[in-house]
Amino acid sequence: MSEQTTSLSSLSDLAGVAPFSSRHIGPDAAEQAQMLDLLGYDSLSALMAAAVPKGIRLGDTLSLLPAMSEPEVTGALRELADQNNPGVAMIGLGYHPTVTPAVIRRNVLEDPRWYTAYTPYQPEISQGRLEALINFQTMVADLAGLPTANASLLDEGTAAAEAMTLTRRAVRANADKPFVVDTGCLPQTLAVVRTRAEAMGIPLVEADLSTGLPEGDLCGALIAYPRHDGAIADPTEVIAAVHERGGLAVVTTDPLALTLLASPGSLGADVVVGSSQRFGVPMFYGGPHAGFMAVKAGLERHLPGRLVGVSVDAEGRPAYRLALQTREQHIRRDRATSNICTAQVLLAVVASMYAVYHGPEGLRQIAYRVHRSAAVLAEGLRQHGIEVVHDTFFDTVLARVPARADEVVASAREAGIHLRRVDADHVGISTSEVTTPAHVEAVWGAFGIDGADLPAIDRAAPDALSAALRRDDDVLTHEVFNTHHSETEMLRYVTRLGDRDYALDRGMIPLGSCTMKLNATTEMEPVSWPQFADLHPFVPAEDARGTLQLVKQLESWLAEVTGYAAVSVQPNAGSQGELAGLLAIRGYHRSRGDVHRDVCLIPSSAHGTNAASAVMAGMRVVVVKAADDGEVDLDDLRKQCAEHADDLAAIMVTYPSTHGVYEHGISELCDVIHAAGGQVYVDGANLNALLGHAKPGEFGGDVSHLNLHKTFCIPHGGGGPGVGPVAVAEHLRPFLPSHPLAPLPEDREGIGAISAAPHGSAGILQISWAYVALMGAQGLTDATSVAVLSANYVAQRLRGYYPILYAGDHGLVAHECILDVRPLTKASGVTVDDVAKRLIDYGFHAPTMSFPVAGTLMVEPTESESLTEIDRFCDAMIAIHAEIEAVQRGDVAVEDSALRRAPHTLKALAGEWDRAYDRDAGAFPSGSHVDKYWPAVARIDQAYGDRNLACACPPPEAFAE
Ligand SMILES: *Cc1c(COP(=O)(O)O)cnc(C)c1O
Repeated sequence: MSEQTTSLSSLSDLAGVAPFSSRHIGPDAAEQAQMLDLLGYDSLSALMAAAVPKGIRLGDTLSLLPAMSEPEVTGALRELADQNNPGVAMIGLGYHPTVTPAVIRRNVLEDPRWYTAYTPYQPEISQGRLEALINFQTMVADLAGLPTANASLLDEGTAAAEAMTLTRRAVRANADKPFVVDTGCLPQTLAVVRTRAEAMGIPLVEADLSTGLPEGDLCGALIAYPRHDGAIADPTEVIAAVHERGGLAVVTTDPLALTLLASPGSLGADVVVGSSQRFGVPMFYGGPHAGFMAVKAGLERHLPGRLVGVSVDAEGRPAYRLALQTREQHIRRDRATSNICTAQVLLAVVASMYAVYHGPEGLRQIAYRVHRSAAVLAEGLRQHGIEVVHDTFFDTVLARVPARADEVVASAREAGIHLRRVDADHVGISTSEVTTPAHVEAVWGAFGIDGADLPAIDRAAPDALSAALRRDDDVLTHEVFNTHHSETEMLRYVTRLGDRDYALDRGMIPLGSCTMKLNATTEMEPVSWPQFADLHPFVPAEDARGTLQLVKQLESWLAEVTGYAAVSVQPNAGSQGELAGLLAIRGYHRSRGDVHRDVCLIPSSAHGTNAASAVMAGMRVVVVKAADDGEVDLDDLRKQCAEHADDLAAIMVTYPSTHGVYEHGISELCDVIHAAGGQVYVDGANLNALLGHAKPGEFGGDVSHLNLHKTFCIPHGGGGPGVGPVAVAEHLRPFLPSHPLAPLPEDREGIGAISAAPHGSAGILQISWAYVALMGAQGLTDATSVAVLSANYVAQRLRGYYPILYAGDHGLVAHECILDVRPLTKASGVTVDDVAKRLIDYGFHAPTMSFPVAGTLMVEPTESESLTEIDRFCDAMIAIHAEIEAVQRGDVAVEDSALRRAPHTLKALAGEWDRAYDRDAGAFPSGSHVDKYWPAVARIDQAYGDRNLACACPPPEAFAE
């Protein structure tokens, strides 16, 4: 034994060695000192004292549990997991057990190449997930029987609500007419639609559409196919009646059922919505799952959310990219089609891979097995004198047991099976991919049937799908769904796509406003533990004790770090947190009789979701100017408050601002708004600059949303999932989201459901829980300090090359900085796009482009990037500056420069070389040949793709060289 290992340290001293925070935070103490030195500060606390305005700075440290080690956190989460009792869920209601093929679970869902990627705004380095998403779109469109589907929505409930607003945009003449909803829809879908309709003043008519369409005008109707209780009514006549009255027909459906059932499109539907959960995505106690929407021709431009399309690259080959972004909230703000930003990319990828792996025949077999299990189950009930209510169904059997429902459900639970108690007289049983004959027998047992002869019943049981609604067209005929059916082929396919993408596993993604920090493996692992992942959201609370405790603890920790009284994790993206927060404000005003307060002030620099959310909350958007220094113009603010003295509802302000600066005026701003009777909404997406140093709930905010997929380590997943908890001060507590299927705390009047599941994307909350537990108060506070240190270090190193657009006290920025490229563009013609694409050649993902100021780059290094990586980035930006100078000097024309012709592909390098610079300068500008990342395609022509809109998998011939 060496001498070091026999030194006399006590065990308690050694316990604190290499805490997790030292793994999470990139720069070590020596590197931090070096960075501080460049900035002229002698400590992190001196830097933070200079940067954060005194008026908002916290006196105390956060009150959290002491930081735990990684094994301790894993152990604590195991204890929580063990308190869940997933059993075998046969509850149905839109959530079904499914088998995630292990090759997909391990190599997609649990693989950092997929889960640490950013939204594919830089398409050249995102071809892998863009292909997976276009597969998703093709799959949904095929099954729906409509030509175009989007690349995921947040869940079925929000998809249905989005479809309702789509009908109003698309059918202008009937826009103020009621929207009719089928009481056969899932109860949580109805709840989300009600919340949205109420806020936007859309009249709703609820009716059982299986018996026809009620009289009256309408803008559209939402029709269930199949219905929540399993019945399948032929929607053809109702659809025709909706069309006769000038409305659009929206159908909610189950994609697995559609492998056997006639597609809604073939029956006349204009829009189809649903959830792709049962395509291999665990139930996750309610989420995250990819909702979907498909539309008929002519409605593409009205689709909410992201849409992947095919365009061409500079070398003439097909290339994928996000299409029609001009519809989106970040461009159109209060006139956007929807407030959706983060969606459910990772889960859409999993669902599409499930279809790729099983293929059309495999999916039909799974669906038919699910159906047969239900048919046999029903036959057994019937043969033993139990009434089965519906003759046709896909997977859900409704049994009538007068006054015995509770007894049957309890007895099934004893046997480890969760059934649905519909009411005192009815029990619902839904079969799934995991249903076995033993489960069927156990269900019979719960009804008091024993000794049933399953093989005989199986032979006697008729199919319960009506012949008239049998699907007879081919689906998923594209090659991609008919090739990768062996595990070897599948592994290679997901690897090939994963390799095309640049994610955090390769290097820094310095995205301003998006906080691409470490997603630690210890935080990620519990996501796929079966006790969490296989939990149905509507099991009895006592069977979800572990997850419920985790939710409660996380909500209380988030309340503590933000200075608010209460938090709800129900919103499943930042945009949904915004809507929830604004509805809380609306509910508060209304509760005081202030029904007319509907003006929402929004600074010109705000994120596009803010304005779009305000419209969805039924508010009128009034823009507040920014002063020259980028801060909110307080004079203009006072003017607007005076003008709207009677109707001011709220201001939505981001702090620190989207300009990356700690504004001094924040306290005064809050005072001015409160004096005018308004509420202050602080957009908390930039909490990474505040955590441990200031609390929005203490410096004047009444409500905030947080983005757990930014500050709290949930990975971006390539564009989702996310979690956008809403946090409120005491007076807004009664107006937090509620849910029809989960009794919430008695102190809530509730604003209704914001998401389909009571706790939103409950299945990924372990990540943020683990992060807080691992870091503790000091770790979180240090992380913020180092995030601010790193941003200022980048600003200091680059300000001589690219002016830093905005700065606060002592010339310091907050956790991000805006590099102004416009003067260089003016002098050289090199655009911010050129810089972004050239960064790919240097081995980087571009920073945020042209937000919040056109022609600029916003850089957020986060606390997790090491000094080496930050320096590598700064060196690349400086080298690019030299390349721009060469253009400016006239050494090379901008069109011929490596900047404009970036990114460089392997194909370009291997082909004829007639460029104005040599191959090395083009492809290896940083000198590294070994670890070179090659983009799959060259620069993509964005405009071409929008002019020639194509949103389904292109035929294989399109890729022929
Ligand atoms: C990311 C972000 C949002 C939206 O969050 P999503 O989860 O993408 O909906 C809102 N505001 C700001 C300032 C953001 O950076």
